[in-house]
Amino acid sequence: MTQFKEKKKDGTLENISAPPCVGEYNKYMGGVDYADQKRNDYRISVKSCRWHRYLAFFLFETAVVSAFILRNLNSNHRKITQKQFRLELIEKLIGAHCTRKRRRSQLAIQVVNGKSHFPVKVEINRCVHCASKGQRKRSTWGCAVCNVTLCVGCFDPFHRS
Ligand SMILES: [Zn+2]
Ligand SMILES: [Zn+2]
Repeated sequence: MTQFKEKKKDGTLENISAPPCVGEYNKYMGGVDYADQKRNDYRISVKSCRWHRYLAFFLFETAVVSAFILRNLNSNHRKITQKQFRLELIEKLIGAHCTRKRRRSQLAIQVVNGKSHFPVKVEINRCVHCASKGQRKRSTWGCAVCNVTLCVGCFDPFHRS
């Protein structure tokens, strides 16, 4: 039997006898606690994955909205709706990567009768080329020279026809 000191409710220490395994248990309890702590760490980090995602989304959203507000406060920019702003943003963030090759050929400067027609961002409107084929498509691109709205894919065929 091993002697232990146990704290009683009134604060006094009392000598108690216990088998040696209790001593071993107490010695390694720290390890058990540590393992528990680690598991809790892990449990928290599993949750925090969602948290990170939520936080990242929240920060992104805040950044988008702030950028939108700042953009519309800037008198050098034409006012646009938040939806338009988001679409432009998506176009810039993803569109440039996914359709760069296609874009280059379809949104390239078109020379018509010696005049250079170049694509510009315009107010969202119906594409005149699609409209001529009875289709209703809207775009934020247009030709600066023709002063018409054209979708990305129509810039080239419109000037060829
Ligand atoms: Zn079109
Ligand atoms: Zn044109």
